[in-house]
Amino acid sequence: MPELPEVETIARGLASGADNLIGRRVARAHVAWKRTVAKPSAAAFVRRIAGQRVVAIGRRAKFVRIQLEKDTLLIHLRMSGDLLTGYSQEPLGSHSRLQIWFKPLTPYPLSRKAGEGKTKAEEIRNHAALQLSFQDPRKFGRVWLVADAESVLGALGPEPLEPALTPSRFHKMLATRKRQLKPLLLDQTFLAGLGNIYVDEALWEARLYPLTAASKLSKQEAGALLRGIRKVLKEGLRRKGASIDWVYRGGDYQHHFKVYQRTGEACPRCGTKIKRVTVGQRGTHFCPRCQEKTW
Ligand SMILES: [Zn+2]
Repeated sequence: MPELPEVETIARGLASGADNLIGRRVARAHVAWKRTVAKPSAAAFVRRIAGQRVVAIGRRAKFVRIQLEKDTLLIHLRMSGDLLTGYSQEPLGSHSRLQIWFKPLTPYPLSRKAGEGKTKAEEIRNHAALQLSFQDPRKFGRVWLVADAESVLGALGPEPLEPALTPSRFHKMLATRKRQLKPLLLDQTFLAGLGNIYVDEALWEARLYPLTAASKLSKQEAGALLRGIRKVLKEGLRRKGASIDWVYRGGDYQHHFKVYQRTGEACPRCGTKIKRVTVGQRGTHFCPRCQEKTW
């Protein structure tokens, strides 16, 4: 499942390059798999999105957030979702659940013939309808079109890279929780954007045993954990995420994991064999020496 760096990479891709969606106005939409649209109904979605212009594109937690003139389009990729763009009247991708076509950026100049004074690629970009396709083989992904984004995002915890999340605030957040670190850090209402990969990597960076109760962490340990989380997220972002299970935007963070899916291999810090345990049904990878159980 894509986590913060992967979703951020996808969101940045939609707001840059030749297929940049910002400033484009929706011509029409088609919902091929009705349950893809969580809110409103598929028919209302198609009606409401038509005519709205894309104002901004960002990310909150693991949601791609596309700000339109009136509404916010939120997309959660879940297990197998992906967003494709291209110039085609046919749905892009073999498992496209939702398509949104945008109006050409500039009206076609009637006084000029196609291709005149421009390259073919520029002609197509400027005058053809760009499609955003939500590709999702496993059908777990969901989209929302809502006037108030907080109605969907309101319960989420803080963003780990936000400066407002200070080490002392993070320590206070942990101090009130008796849950084990691994499941707590996966809980999106506690902290937003982390999943199995980045939690395992962050706990290794911070030298913390994944089953430690959150409330047991000292101020120093909480600080180390926040630094570890930020370090692995920034490294993931720099590498455009990890390409696991399906194709990404050239992300290669999977070649730089320290513990995740490295069971039995040597810890890069101390050489001890990486262990795997199951915590709350999730595979958890750690170094039994660096991340020693301390109670
Ligand atoms: Zn180690």
